[in-house]
Amino acid sequence: MGLWDRVRQALGGRRPEAGDVSAYWVYVRCGKCGETIRTRVDLRNDLSPQEEGEGYFTHKTLIGRKRCFNPVEVYLYFDANRQLIERVIEGGSFIEAADYHED
Ligand SMILES: [Zn+2]
Repeated sequence: MGLWDRVRQALGGRRPEAGDVSAYWVYVRCGKCGETIRTRVDLRNDLSPQEEGEGYFTHKTLIGRKRCFNPVEVYLYFDANRQLIERVIEGGSFIEAADYHED
């Protein structure tokens, strides 16, 4: 049995992508050029406690891979159970995963 098999067994036999429950994917469209961008938020490592009250927040700056360097600022707010409760975006708009195109 190889090392990777042992690691997988230690993880309960799940495929890594199936076990990625701590990920929250953000899909946006750049407000300047229309490029779609996505980023992965790690709900275990990327969230910071809010300064007031319970819950967490994170801030991501997304920049497309093309020549447009317009930053898209994303602010995500989560409750104490790390469930998304509010999201704010500047420089672009939120889209659905189905609208994301890697081109
Ligand atoms: Zn752009």
